[in-house]
Amino acid sequence: MTKCPACDHDVAPPFILNADKWRWLVCPHCAARLERKNPQIVVPLMGFWLALLALGRMGHRFAIIAEVLMIAIFIVILVKLMRPELQLRKPLPKPEIKLNINGQSN
Ligand SMILES: [Zn+2]
Repeated sequence: MTKCPACDHDVAPPFILNADKWRWLVCPHCAARLERKNPQIVVPLMGFWLALLALGRMGHRFAIIAEVLMIAIFIVILVKLMRPELQLRKPLPKPEIKLNINGQSN
């Protein structure tokens, strides 16, 4: 569960790899179009992870420290992926053909 940035209600985000569902994600409470915020922390954490791999080769004590930190990083990344933050999707450019559902002229 994560929060809608527009109305602060809980929104159930689709599965992380379900790109199609993400494309059409709309808040069920206020109908705001939503998209996933890029988890920017993941990339530097991955870099740090690789540094820890190198650290782990420098001796037994370093290996233990590296292992603990790697588990911590793994959990942070996992949480970030499981609880994505949402942001409002920018409105689409105006369609060239408007559907006139209500039958009223604009
Ligand atoms: Zn909402």
